Order: sequence, then C-alpha cells, then structure tokens
Amino acid sequence: MADIIKLLPDHVANQIAAGEVVQRPASVVKELLENAIDAGATTIKLIIKDGGKVLIQVVDDGLGMSATDARLSFERHATSKIQKAEDLFNLNTKGFRGEALASIAAIAHVEMQTKPEKEELGTHLKIEGSKVIFQEATVTPKGTSMAVKNLFFNIPARRNFLKSNQVELRHITDEFHRVALAHPAITFHFYNNGNELFNLPSDNYRKRIVNIFGARTNQKLVPVEEETPIVGIKGFITKPEFAKKSRGEQFFFINNRFIKSPYLHHAIVAAFEGLIKSDSYPGYFLYLEVDPASIDINIHPTKTEVKFDDEHSLYAILRSTVKHSLGQFNVAPALDFEHDPNLQTPYEFKNKSVVQPKVTVDSGFNPFQEAKTRPSPSRSYQKPNTKSWESLYVGMESKMGANDDSESISFESDIITGSIFEGEKETTEAVTTTFQIRRKYIVTTIKSGMVVIDQSRAHQRVLYEKFLKNSTVKQAVSQQLLFPLNLSFSKSEINALQEIEDILVSIGFIFEEIKGESITVTGVPLLVAESEVGMILDQLISDYQQELTEESFSHTDILSKTLAKTLAVKTGETLDNVSQIALVNDLFACKEAMVSPFNKPVYITITENDIDKKFI
Ligand code: ADP
Ligand code: MG
Repeated sequence: MADIIKLLPDHVANQIAAGEVVQRPASVVKELLENAIDAGATTIKLIIKDGGKVLIQVVDDGLGMSATDARLSFERHATSKIQKAEDLFNLNTKGFRGEALASIAAIAHVEMQTKPEKEELGTHLKIEGSKVIFQEATVTPKGTSMAVKNLFFNIPARRNFLKSNQVELRHITDEFHRVALAHPAITFHFYNNGNELFNLPSDNYRKRIVNIFGARTNQKLVPVEEETPIVGIKGFITKPEFAKKSRGEQFFFINNRFIKSPYLHHAIVAAFEGLIKSDSYPGYFLYLEVDPASIDINIHPTKTEVKFDDEHSLYAILRSTVKHSLGQFNVAPALDFEHDPNLQTPYEFKNKSVVQPKVTVDSGFNPFQEAKTRPSPSRSYQKPNTKSWESLYVGMESKMGANDDSESISFESDIITGSIFEGEKETTEAVTTTFQIRRKYIVTTIKSGMVVIDQSRAHQRVLYEKFLKNSTVKQAVSQQLLFPLNLSFSKSEINALQEIEDILVSIGFIFEEIKGESITVTGVPLLVAESEVGMILDQLISDYQQELTEESFSHTDILSKTLAKTLAVKTGETLDNVSQIALVNDLFACKEAMVSPFNKPVYITITENDIDKKFI
C-alpha cells in the first residue's frame, strides 16, 4: 500500500491552530495587548472598528522588533520568551507559545509596523492569510503597531458565526478590562469606531478600578491585604451591600494574569456567607502573587485557567483574608456568637417598611348565632373583562369534571371560613373573595373548586405584560419627578444605558441627559418609586449586559422582564384584600396568566373533585 500520511502545509496547520487561539475578535485583542505588555510598553492604544470585525489595532511604545524578528514573529512556535522547556516553570511573560501571531496571520489581513529604539528605520510588513504581501523599511516611531483586519476573511463559517458588533464589542471590553486592571501602571486608550471609550492614565490599583468602573465604585471598595509564604494577596472586595444580582465585577489575577477559578471564587463567596443574599454575588478585584513554579498555566490554550500546587491552602487563606477584611473594616458584624437565627431578619425584609397589622372587629358577631347563609354566588368578578377569562379557562379545562357547567366560571366569594385555614382570620365583611396564605399565595375560589396563585409570579406576569404593552404602544405613562435625579455610572454602564435608552423611554423613563459618567432622570414609569430608580437602573444595565453576551432576542423583552422581577411584590409581603383582588383580576386579564415571564407556573387549580378524593 502506498504511503498516505502527509505533513500539512504550514498555512493549513496555522489555520487549524488559529481555531484554538482565535475564537472571536476579543481573542485577538487579548493576544495583541499581551504582546504589547510583554514588550514592556508604557502606553498602549487599542483601536476597534465594528466590533473588531473590520479592524483591531494595538499600538504600543515597547521594545519593537528588528526586521528579521518582525518576519520571524509570524512563524509558528517563534517566540522570544522561552528557549527551553524549564523556562515554562519560570514564566514572567503573558505569552510563550509563539502561536498567536502565526494563527492570527493565517485568518486575517495583518499589517505591522515596528521599530526598536536604537534603529533609524523600522519595518512595515503586510501578511494576508499567512502570505507575505510585502515587507519594506519605513519611518515609524519606537514600538509596534499591529493592525488586524477582516478577521476570518478566509473562513466564512467562522465569520458568520460572529455575533453582532455590540456583542463582540462587549467581549472585547471584558478582555480590555482584564488586561487594564492587571496593569495599572500602563496607560491605556481604547477607541471604538472613532470614539474614546476609555482613557486610563498610569495609576495605582484603586484608581485604575475606579477609572474603569466609575467614580462611585470608590466607596464600594474594601482593601484586602495578606502576605504568607504561599501567596501574597492584595486588592479589594466590594462591600456586601453592593453585591449584585448578576455576576460582573469579579476578577482574580495570578501574577498579574487574569484567571478564572470557580474554586477560588467559592472561597470568596464563603467569606461573604451570611452577609449577602444567596442569589447575589460579591464583587472583587484580587491580585495574588505566587511562585511561578507553583502554578501551571499551560493547561488551557487561552490561558485563563490555572492549576495550583496547593489549592486547598490557597482557598483557606483567601477565605480567611477576605473575612478578616470584612471584619476589620466594620463591614461584617464582629461578634456574632449567641446569635439566635430565629431573630435574624430575612434579607427580603431588611429594607421593608413595617406593615401595620390590621385588626378588624366584627361588631355584629354573635357566637350563638348560626353561620349566616349567604346568597350564592354572592358576588362574581367575571364580567368586566370576559375575554380574558378564557385564558384561565384554558388552563382549567382538563381538570374540570365532565358535568361541570364550564360555560360560566364565576368567582365565588362565600366559601372561605376561618375554621379551615388556621391562623387566617376571616374578615368580618360579609364577603371576601380572596385570602393570602403565608404571605406567599393568594387563594380564590372558582365554581369548580379553587385557584392558588403565587403572588410574586402573578405580579411579575401582570407587570411584564404592562411594560411590554407600554413599549409597543409607544406612549408609556410616566410620572414626572419633582426634582431631577442625578445618578452616576461607569463609562461602560453609560454606554449600555445609551444603547437601551429608547426602550427605557418607551417604558416610561425620561432622561434629560446621559453623558460622561452621569445621567439626569426627570421621569420614571408609573410603578417605580423614586428611591428605587438607581437600584432598578443598575439591575437593568447588568441584566442587559449579561443577556447581551448570552444573545437574547429582544431588548424590550429583557428589560420588561427585569422591571417586572424587580418591581413585583415578593413572597413575604402582606397584601390587603383590595390588592389581592386587584392582583387576581389583573392576572386573569393577562394574555398568558398561566406562566410567569420566567416560565414558571403562576397558579394551580384544585377542583372540587380533587378535594373530594382526599376525603375518601
Ligand atoms: P508569544 O507571545 O507566545 O511569544 P506571539 O506569536 O504572540 O508569541 O509573538 C511572537 C513573538 O513576536 C514574541 O515572542 C515577541 O518576540 C514578538 N512580538 C510580538 N508582538 C510584539 C510587540 N508588540 N512588540 C515587540 N515584540 C513583539
Ligand atoms: Mg503573544
């Protein structure tokens, strides 16, 4: 048999390797920024066009390259950073594989200009799909400029796979944050389509964080510092009250390299235990220094995962260090022994105003009198919006007995008595149509039995449909604020706000100004309290950013969901009778009363049949 194994030509091998190194424009950004840092740059400029699909350019003032090095740098396994295998265990540079430039040049149009300090002339080199188009001497400042154009021009499948410019820019920005946070001494500029997104002067860690995430971040930061033989830790955690519902500002750096580590993340979460709600995440910016020989960063091609020699000790040290900082800065209660957990206020109630218990006296109550017989049905709610009952009806059809008169579902109001549901006092009004169980469910009766409604999900559904409707009708109802509200945000939050401004306006927000790092709000949707505006916008932005990277389909939908979730009554809230009735009516006027905006069941029905069966 003839030999059939052949060595792949270099450009094919490079294309294959590129698949590992370059997933999307953000991967190129990461590699180029890291190369600039490895070259000892003090100022780095990042220029992006159309989410990096058209152009990604990094300009640095680092070492530069000689003409030979310039050409060699695009060869696979060409690196100046290691020479022998042992060097891998003592790495002080970001790169070491010598793969990035070769990979990038295999799948894009690359143009480089570079010059070492001592030389008169620099080198101008152009490569397209691994082919050198030209190389010539040129006048250029010290350092390197690397422009990557038309990414994946020769791999249409990959190009088509790229997301919208906005989504790609989001990924690039995340990558930029990681690099800029790890190197506060380096000055960074970041331009997108000609606009300056970030201008970060050389500074200390705290100022770098504040410059990226906005002035109001400063008050959130609690310093962390610890020196042990295994690890040096410095950096910041955010105060528990600023914990966010979505993951966002969580950064670990090992020897100034951003890493992801679910295990170490857990150590931080453990340190915050009891201080934040279980569905919120603490923010942190933690810089760990370890002996390079004690870690292996070689296990992942894009190098965000790291293997540690002594993970368990690292975990324990990190957890206690963070705990210590929380205590030292009076963020956590210092003494928490003899704490009766029964006396602790659940978080949901912490910021709630006290609800005055209502006591109603039935002046006409006579214990010796027989229970009144009430006309049946004494009051029914069916008429005002007959059509909407259909949605309720649809859900119940299957559960109804064949002999039920399903034509007329009426909400009866004369069945509830205090004796069945212990602790729930029957109001003395002749008629009640709903009641609340455990401040969680609202129960109401229907002809065939009863409906048990999850109050929070029901309200979410009602609000969600309201917001959706408002935004399609284009004439949202807003309430003017007496005094305009000034709120500050980080640059990227402001960008996000600008992107969703139209939608926010369509659901009732009015902005006088969104610029720089602050916004002025003059009107809010009808259901939003002024005191909640900051919190709600925070939530909207972070949900939007999160969903954006997860590629959800409609922004209006995301925002309506978030608003509904944020504003809905929660489990644990007492609802008076009027609100209960209103909620039930509103719910069954919804298009899809059965499920919450998050696809959870909103109510269940229990038919008389079901109940009868229990008594057999
Ligand atoms: P690695 O960074 O793993 O060494 P790269 O493919 O990213 O591999 O780069 C190859 C080589 O090109 C580097 O080792 C370095 O010598 C040189 N190089 C790349 N970018 C720059 C730059 N911005 N300034 C100076 N030298 C650079
Ligand atoms: Mg590199």
